[in-house]
Amino acid sequence: MKLDLSQLPVVDVHCHPYTRKEKLTANEFTDVTAFGGGSTQYLSEAGLPVDDAALARLQRSKRDTVYFRNLIHRLADLFDCEPDVEQVVAARNRAVAAEGYTAYNTRLFQSAGVTTLVMDFGYPVPNIPVARFRAETGVEIAPIYRIEVLIAELLKLDIGWSECRRRFDDTLGDALGRQGFRGLKSIIAYRTGLDISPLSRNPDQGMQAWEAIQRGTGGGAMKKLRDYFFCRSMELCMEHAVPMQVHTGMGDWQVQLTACRPALLMDLLRFPTFRGCHVLLVHTGYPYHAEAGYMANVLPNLWCDLSEGIPFAGQAAKRILAELLEMAPLSRVCYGSDAFGSAEPFHVSARLGKQAVAQVLESLVDDGMLSAAEAQTAAGLILAQNARELYSLI
Ligand SMILES: [Zn+2]
Repeated sequence: MKLDLSQLPVVDVHCHPYTRKEKLTANEFTDVTAFGGGSTQYLSEAGLPVDDAALARLQRSKRDTVYFRNLIHRLADLFDCEPDVEQVVAARNRAVAAEGYTAYNTRLFQSAGVTTLVMDFGYPVPNIPVARFRAETGVEIAPIYRIEVLIAELLKLDIGWSECRRRFDDTLGDALGRQGFRGLKSIIAYRTGLDISPLSRNPDQGMQAWEAIQRGTGGGAMKKLRDYFFCRSMELCMEHAVPMQVHTGMGDWQVQLTACRPALLMDLLRFPTFRGCHVLLVHTGYPYHAEAGYMANVLPNLWCDLSEGIPFAGQAAKRILAELLEMAPLSRVCYGSDAFGSAEPFHVSARLGKQAVAQVLESLVDDGMLSAAEAQTAAGLILAQNARELYSLI
């Protein structure tokens, strides 16, 4: 059987804002939309040459991923031009000039069905103001506050523990209250890893760690401090009735690849204090996505999002969703892209997401696992409704 999802709305549950870009060269477009492929910073930090040959090598790697090739093919369809980076970028620049930047952005979202972005404003740095991004793109935004931005600011200050603790609580309370952020996010998997003891919620642990860092007798104090702040953030999420997003699985080259498995969160999530916290495993732990699906099966307040696997793992989009759905309830899986840089990856990712959702659900119907009606309902849940419910978006 065939599902037609072309008219379904899409909520992108994990993505990042981007700065205004009216006109780009082909190389600039590649740099802002590619996933991986290395960076000049990676080389220069190590004293390696960043000459023309190195730059050409970086460009080649970025353009040689299946994700990037697919991006160019789908944009060539959209702009009715040859699937060539130079031509696609030239067509993109002409469209921005002809339509105006905001109208062009709005069109790219709308033509892929994207109505709402649940957006992590903690990246890029410096952070982009929510109101500015909203005005420039004309799309509904549910902003998310990343706790590591605040932790980095606190670590620069010469203040005592009680003042630090007060500022942490007050800043997050203000973000979730007055400023209208719809949830918190942690990238502790990029810092000290996901093996967080639930006992880290004790403020005494935070105090001991904070004072050890200030005295320069750190040792493992930074992990203890980050673990305390993570637990405190979950408590604040419960107090404000908003979800907590946790980065799991792959990311850029700085991720702690051996400490990012979703399974490492198991002790924390099933600890009685935290059972009531609604948690979204960002990237569904890919490449540990089947493990995340199992966790969503046994833990009733856990959701998984498909971002990064879709679109950056290319053809694996359907495999990741199929393996996630081996165990995860249909009501606990959300579409996400992790798109950044410019509007085009958001558009292409949503189309790829619809394709993967259709392919996986059609195969479940063909195998007699779901009825056609159940598959149609499930598509609506995964693409938008589960995220709407999780984030109380009316
Ligand atoms: Zn992200």
